[in-house]
Amino acid sequence: MEPVKTIEEPAAPPALPIQQEPDAKLSDVALAKSILLVEDNHINQRLIVRLLKGLGFTIIDVAANGKEGVDMVKAGPSVYGLILMDTSMPVMSGVEATKMIREMGLDVPIMALTAHAMMVDQESFLTQGFDDCLSKPVRKTKLQEALVKWLDRALPRQNPARACTSFLSSTKPTKPPTESITSLYRRSASRISTQASFAHSQARPLGSPHSIGPTLPRVLGPLLASIQLSGIIYPEYANLSYTTTYDTPPSIPTMSAPSGPIAALAPLATPLPPSPNGSPFTDAQWAILMALMDAVVPRIVRTSAATPGSLDYVVSDAEYAFLSTQAGASAHATDAETLDAYLAERPSDSAEFQDLLMRQLVFYVTDEQVNGLKFVLAALRRAVIDGLYPDAGHVGRAGALGGAEGLANALLVADTRALFPAVTGYSATPTGYEPGPAFDYKFLQFKAGGEPATLEFDVVIVGSGVGGGVSAKNLAEAGFSVLVVDKAYYHPPDRLPMTEAAGYTHLFENGGFDVTYDSSLTFIAGSNWGGGGSINWSASLQPQSYVRHEWSQDRKLPLFETTEFQDALDRVCYRMGVSTEHVEHSHGNQVLLEGARKLGYEAKAVPQNTGGHKHACGRCGMGCGAAEKQGPNVCWLPDAARAGAQFMEGYNVERVLFETRGGNKTAVGVKGVWTKDGVEREVVVKAQRVIVSAGSLKSPVLLMNSGLKNKHIGRNLYMHPANMVSAFFPEDVRPWEGAILTTVCTSFENLDGHGHGAKMEATCMIPTLSLSQLNWTSGPDWKLLAAKYRHMNTYASFARDRDTGRVLANPPRVEYTPSAFDRRHTLIGLLEMIKILLVGGAAEIHPHLPGAPPFIVDPSAERSPADPTFAAWLRKVEAVGNAPPGVACGSAHQMGSCRMSATEGMGVVDPEGRVWETRGLYVADASVFPSASGVNPMVTNLAISDVISRRMAAGLKKERGERL
Ligand SMILES: Cc1cc2nc3c(=O)[nH]c(=O)nc-3n(C[C@H](O)[C@H](O)[C@H](O)COP(=O)(O)OP(=O)(O)OC[C@H]3O[C@@H](n4cnc5c(N)ncnc54)[C@H](O)[C@@H]3O)c2cc1C
Repeated sequence: MEPVKTIEEPAAPPALPIQQEPDAKLSDVALAKSILLVEDNHINQRLIVRLLKGLGFTIIDVAANGKEGVDMVKAGPSVYGLILMDTSMPVMSGVEATKMIREMGLDVPIMALTAHAMMVDQESFLTQGFDDCLSKPVRKTKLQEALVKWLDRALPRQNPARACTSFLSSTKPTKPPTESITSLYRRSASRISTQASFAHSQARPLGSPHSIGPTLPRVLGPLLASIQLSGIIYPEYANLSYTTTYDTPPSIPTMSAPSGPIAALAPLATPLPPSPNGSPFTDAQWAILMALMDAVVPRIVRTSAATPGSLDYVVSDAEYAFLSTQAGASAHATDAETLDAYLAERPSDSAEFQDLLMRQLVFYVTDEQVNGLKFVLAALRRAVIDGLYPDAGHVGRAGALGGAEGLANALLVADTRALFPAVTGYSATPTGYEPGPAFDYKFLQFKAGGEPATLEFDVVIVGSGVGGGVSAKNLAEAGFSVLVVDKAYYHPPDRLPMTEAAGYTHLFENGGFDVTYDSSLTFIAGSNWGGGGSINWSASLQPQSYVRHEWSQDRKLPLFETTEFQDALDRVCYRMGVSTEHVEHSHGNQVLLEGARKLGYEAKAVPQNTGGHKHACGRCGMGCGAAEKQGPNVCWLPDAARAGAQFMEGYNVERVLFETRGGNKTAVGVKGVWTKDGVEREVVVKAQRVIVSAGSLKSPVLLMNSGLKNKHIGRNLYMHPANMVSAFFPEDVRPWEGAILTTVCTSFENLDGHGHGAKMEATCMIPTLSLSQLNWTSGPDWKLLAAKYRHMNTYASFARDRDTGRVLANPPRVEYTPSAFDRRHTLIGLLEMIKILLVGGAAEIHPHLPGAPPFIVDPSAERSPADPTFAAWLRKVEAVGNAPPGVACGSAHQMGSCRMSATEGMGVVDPEGRVWETRGLYVADASVFPSASGVNPMVTNLAISDVISRRMAAGLKKERGERL
């Protein structure tokens, strides 16, 4: 990774676009911004508003004097894209108001409107915090020119603290014939810094909606979010007025810090697999990538400690002190040494970071995506180093976007190194950690060999997750020889919960996260011994009656309204000890419950599958160290083992094997490759019944790769698309402590009368899942937000989706774009969740919708959704909306891609779970749902798989002439 080689450089870069003359047309992005006009004269007000409307602006607020203007800015510090400020007004002059706005640390462009037309007067305004000056009466062409200049071209203000990265301050680069990687890195870093923040703040559209213009901010968002966790910020936002420090007494019981000596125990480390051997990137591409990381999140140093010529982000000693104080104000660590290190940390200094990044890109990103990313890097190199924006319409399709998202995902795991925990107090080890009992699994082992090993069982189950686990128990207990296989591996409780870097690698599909083909949704699914059931959040809800009615009546599957199905639901819940009895709500869950009830909404406790125990480690999204969560690895698979089932981990099933028997295509087993400790062996498992339980993302792929042609395979994919919101509270929340998801608000779950709507729930507060999704305006904003992570809770609004996507096998990809219908529901849920947070005591509310500003609660105002300031802000959030490509939804629930149907032409499996075009082949997992469950799907899945496997056992016994 060390930048040592020299490389050939391209021809001399032309001038940067920002230095070119603007065309006088305002872009859509500029026109979407809010303008604040501060003007006391009514006639002037009307005239200027008319001019602005004529230019295409729609969001124009008017204040009648400087004081009113300042108050409006205070209420929403990042709401306004530009302020037009009359200089002389009663109550408070424009000069005084501008001074106060600048004292808040705000960088918003402010234009003086003045009748003092002399040049000397205008210059004096520029020294008093104004950016530009317009003479009255204001003329349309002058106004338009100024707006283009400040809204579309994003000229950096002439602030000495930022001059070091300003395009304007950089001299036009002269090109050496060759350049070292180090100097390429330096030049890239300095340019990318400005380019990135420019792109993010402007989201300048270039060509198609998928062009790099909108892509860059979206890509940089998660990147920065992740890097932010390692503790680096920009300085200029340090004194934003919404940088709240908290000292208010708690209103809701807080999670207590561990008392007494901190437990010496921690989970054993699970090493990562060997690093990739080689890199798909050239040194120059890697240098660009590192420059991108560092430029966006630079090392910050004070002037007195700065090294001349370095790329450090230099701020004055006074600014540095202020920044450090702000970062420390709501943090865990307050000593100067830690905060200095926090400010100085940058991603490329960490070999671990670079290694994780490379792993993600090599192991989990497809070649198509890597190529896309390389293309983006090349485009960035042209755009940034050569100073041109690419005509990027051809860049942005799936390859580039997917690659970039892969990169983002890579960075999501590269977090929580030294300084984030030090600054926030976060620990990956649960309080009072003590590993629970491990089940003594005996996995089949093989020697290396040329010939495939062949095994024979009554039933082979592909996938050890939720559907596979319960099926294994039932069939083994019914007396059949059962083999459960999974491509992933078992990890005992003393290795759990894993750190995020290890956990995403060992416990999840695709190294943690994946993204749909058009990048409009990021999804996550478990892959380990126990599948999603061993990393999920314990929420154990049964499906609502209206969903069961739809499946039974509309889809002609009567099972779902029978006592047989209800018995199955109750049976699986009973076995897992599902109950609300031992639930102790965390701070975040308590806020949801109480806030919803204050508003008259329906909210309730969510039952947990924790074996009748209180379980509140907060981290078992990375595996349950206490072995209390009754996931398949703790509950169903040990039951199956006790009944004689056998197990194979590390076995990737490549295809189902068929023979034609009696003219029917009949499944006779599976074929795949077993891998463990560097030994590989092809293994064939022969079986009378094959159950595919590989999950909604992989079951259809396995069926397609096995040669099945039913057009429904992979279609009808439901995702429960989610949007999120975070809130900061005055009290010390320590959100990583306490049970994860124990409450739900259900008032908005049936918005269309057909069972489609949204549910609101608390989410897991592992930093990469929550903090990294937070909306942000800049690096410094992020840094300060990260420093007060211990005050934050995050919530999701997820829709029971009506509209679907699909899974493809060749090329392997997931296509799903949340429809406007479904997005509307998640948005409604999100807006209602925000109201719950307001009445629930939040100090700041941050919707995870890029472009939506945070709401800073005025402690003296009434906490009511009817409060005019809050209501106006909420309307703005609604207007920002959740449409892709600007906003990506998330999903942890995938369903329906091998749906059950009453007739052959309508789905993939019949009401018994049999694959329509075959004999002996079944699917038992969430992929058989007839449509979205509308509740967290584990219990529904268990019950369906319970019925499928019990019926299969009965059928097999009958076939063999055995007694039922
Ligand atoms: C972060 C997270 C939190 C969640 N929280 C909740 C919750 O609180 N409550 C709830 O109800 N639901 C929750 N869910 C959803 C729930 O866990 C899943 O819906 C459920 O696990 C899906 O079960 P499944 O049987 O379809 O497949 P999975 O449980 O996903 O199991 C599939 C298994 O198949 C294996 N596999 C795949 N392909 C192959 C192959 N070719 N060869 C061999 N093995 C293969 C995989 O490695 C995996 O282990 C959560 C999910 C996530 C990701």
